[in-house]
Amino acid sequence: MDISGPNSVAVRTENVCRHYQMGEALVRAVDGISVDVRAGEFVALLGASGSGKSSLLNLVAGLDRPTSGAVIVHENNLAELSREQLAKYRLHTVGMVFQSFNLIPRMSLLENVELPMRFAEVDRRERSALARQSLERVGLSGRLSHRPMELSGGEQQRASLARALINRPKLLLADEPTGNLDSRTGTEIMELIRSFNQSLGMTVLMVTHEQALAEKYASRMLHLADGKLVNDLSNDGVRGISSEPMQAPGPGGKTQ
Ligand code: ADP
Ligand code: MG
Repeated sequence: MDISGPNSVAVRTENVCRHYQMGEALVRAVDGISVDVRAGEFVALLGASGSGKSSLLNLVAGLDRPTSGAVIVHENNLAELSREQLAKYRLHTVGMVFQSFNLIPRMSLLENVELPMRFAEVDRRERSALARQSLERVGLSGRLSHRPMELSGGEQQRASLARALINRPKLLLADEPTGNLDSRTGTEIMELIRSFNQSLGMTVLMVTHEQALAEKYASRMLHLADGKLVNDLSNDGVRGISSEPMQAPGPGGKTQ
C-alpha cells in the first residue's frame, strides 16, 4: 500500500505490543497488532472491556510507547521522534477526545478550546478567532464564556471536539466519545465526527463497544480480543453485507 498519495497510509502498526509487567504477571494489553489505516477512513475499534482498545489508541496518540513493534503515522515512526517532535506530533497531527471530555473546569469554553493553540505559539487574536470558529462549527457559539460545569454532557463533548479540531489534525482519535451520553446526544456527537471525516477529510479511529454505532458510522470495524486483532471488516454501508460474515471475536476469529 502507498505510504503517500491520496490513498496513503495514515496509520500503520507493525506487530505492535504493549505489555505490562504486574509483579509476576505479564499483561499483554496489546499483543502483536499489524494493521494499516488509509487516510480518510473511519475506523471503529471494537472489543470487550479490557481487550486493549484504549491501549492501542494511546500508542497511536503517542501518549504511550510500545514495548515492541512500531507505530507509523503519516510517515512518522513515533519511536524515532525526539521528545520535542513527539509533542509537535501530538499538537498538529492528532486530535483526541475521551469519554470523560477532559475539559479544564476553571477555564471558559473559549479558553479550553484555545489551549492547544497556546502551545502552538499562535498569536492571541488568531487563536481566539480560530477557537470561535471551531466552537461555531460544533454549534456552541452561544457558550463561549461558559465553564464546562455549566454545560450539559453533550455540550461538553462538543467543546472537546472543538478543541481537538482547532489545529486541523489529520487524525481524530476518539476513546468511547459517546460513553457518557444518552443515545440522542451520542448521535449528535457521532454526526459531528462524521462531518469531520467527510467534509474535513480527517481520518477517524474511534473506540466503542457499541456495535450498532460502529455499523452506522464506521467504514471499517477492527475487533480486538485479548490484545489481538481478531477481525477486520469493511462496512460498505449496506446493512448485513460486509467482506466477511461477522463472527464473534475470539481465538476462532479470523486473525489479520
Ligand atoms: P479496553 O480499552 O479495551 O477496555 P485497555 O486497553 O484499557 O482495554 O486495557 C487492556 C488490558 O491492559 C487490561 O487487562 C488492563 O487491565 C491492562 N492495562 C491497561 N493499562 C494498564 C496499566 N497502566 N498497567 C497495567 N495494566 C494495564
Ligand atoms: Mg478503554
